[in-house]
Amino acid sequence: MSASTGPPAESPAPPAPNSPPGTLPVTAGRRAAYLVVLVVLPVVLLAAAVPVAWGRGLGARDAVIAAVMYVISIFGITIGYHRLFTHRSFKCGRPLRAVLALAGGMAMEGPVSLWAAEHRRHHKYADRPGDPHSPWRYGDGGTALLRGLLHAQVGWFCTARRRSDRRHWVPDLLADRDLRRIDAAYPAVVALALLLPATVGGLWAGAWSGFWTALFWGGLVRYAVVHHVTWSVNSIAHTFGTQHFKTRDRSADVRWVAFLTLGEGWHNWHHADPSCARHGVLPGQFDPSARLIRLFEQAGWAREVKWPDPRRVAAGRLPQDGR
Ligand SMILES: [Zn+2]
Ligand SMILES: [Zn+2]
Repeated sequence: MSASTGPPAESPAPPAPNSPPGTLPVTAGRRAAYLVVLVVLPVVLLAAAVPVAWGRGLGARDAVIAAVMYVISIFGITIGYHRLFTHRSFKCGRPLRAVLALAGGMAMEGPVSLWAAEHRRHHKYADRPGDPHSPWRYGDGGTALLRGLLHAQVGWFCTARRRSDRRHWVPDLLADRDLRRIDAAYPAVVALALLLPATVGGLWAGAWSGFWTALFWGGLVRYAVVHHVTWSVNSIAHTFGTQHFKTRDRSADVRWVAFLTLGEGWHNWHHADPSCARHGVLPGQFDPSARLIRLFEQAGWAREVKWPDPRRVAAGRLPQDGR
């Protein structure tokens, strides 16, 4: 184990003068890596997927493998990275924590401690100065909002000059030896995210061609889709949709985002009560991630689940929907 995975420092690093608290400078090398992996490559892959699929390059085998990988990695983000590790919506044993951290890692959105640090900062400053990815950063007008949407979707990955300091935002995660090991193994998790679907495809097809097409659809295109689906919570669900609850930010409920993210598009209640294990708390707001947490609880794998308090939900409602 490397020295960087040792116990966290007792106190956060002092902020540099005139810099937001709890942040560190981003090196040029890291910005370049983010530009390639998080901004450019997913767009290139999605652009390539369209003509390939159009030419009947997407068969049933690869569609099934990609769909299963999509569900695993989205649940890893929603239940693992987001509700468990960032917001501590429930508790569970070490095996399930490790499985959820690995599943989230296969979304290829970064090590869990880094993801959670940025997200906790988002909640502290949501849609105000200090929020790493508010779509309202440049103003409310047409062009400013369009620029803000691009910033919230992917732009902030490569334009931010400062990133969240993990010692400040996630000392609890840094103190977890299992998570430190999984963080350190992140490159191997990324390799697994690509080679697992490819290997299944090769074995299923009984030919190398199955390996390569499953690598493309279940590994690469799936990761690009998962990224943009996840980031749409930061952009779309802070710009459009309906506000049902009183919050200090512009978070809103967007049904199609909730469908694609397996429950995360019910973003308004999430900002009203961030540690709640259920995001869709109103009638008709289907939240598959909360359903799965409930199954974990019934199986005895999850405990101390923070389910919504009906009185708090009722008290938080706005007098009328919309804005
Ligand atoms: Zn948000
Ligand atoms: Zn959150």
